[in-house]
Amino acid sequence: MNAAPEPCGRRRPRWLETPPLVASRLPCALPAGHDGPHEDAIGQQWVWLPPELVDAVAVLCTVDRVRQAFATADTPAEEAER
Ligand SMILES: [Zn+2]
Repeated sequence: MNAAPEPCGRRRPRWLETPPLVASRLPCALPAGHDGPHEDAIGQQWVWLPPELVDAVAVLCTVDRVRQAFATADTPAEEAER
């Protein structure tokens, strides 16, 4: 009789947590070393992204928001750069 394979156990990063928090903090229930996205016991899936990529996207989104906040209605952000 074979023992059950060890579960992956990885939890989603905090920025992917959504209400209800108890459900979004469930660990991955797939066997360790699985391919594809992680999946918890209630079937919610998520992918792991490198923290450097997440940080880079967050910076780009913030820069865009700041640029829009300081752009005037008659001066689109694209023209303000010139
Ligand atoms: Zn997993």
